[in-house]
Amino acid sequence: MPYKILIVEDNENNRSLFRDILTFHGYGVAVAADGHEGVALARELMPDLILMDIQMPGMDGMTAGAILKTDPQTSGLKIIALTSFAMRGDLEKFLSAGFDGYLSKPISTRELPDMVKRWLEEDQP
Ligand SMILES: [Mg+2]
Repeated sequence: MPYKILIVEDNENNRSLFRDILTFHGYGVAVAADGHEGVALARELMPDLILMDIQMPGMDGMTAGAILKTDPQTSGLKIIALTSFAMRGDLEKFLSAGFDGYLSKPISTRELPDMVKRWLEEDQP
């Protein structure tokens, strides 16, 4: 069984790019275009890893992440925040919001599979 990864990203180009890269590396990939869809798919699929864009119209990634992290059924899911902000203190902000990691866009297409592999292999907290 391949690892299941859920990509929640409103930008269609990014969504397709991340999906193609991770599919090429053998992962089972599902995509969602906003926070509402992301939360629904996360509950349905219980993926091994979620890549969650922060800036999205409708329900943003902070809200969707908080919903999943406060629901006992989904609180154990690993969620990585994707953001194009380059603000000081972001890492602390996302970790304190319950995210398991943080990735700043633009994302290196060569590094993405390595980082995903590392996150998947990290022990569950
Ligand atoms: Mg976005």
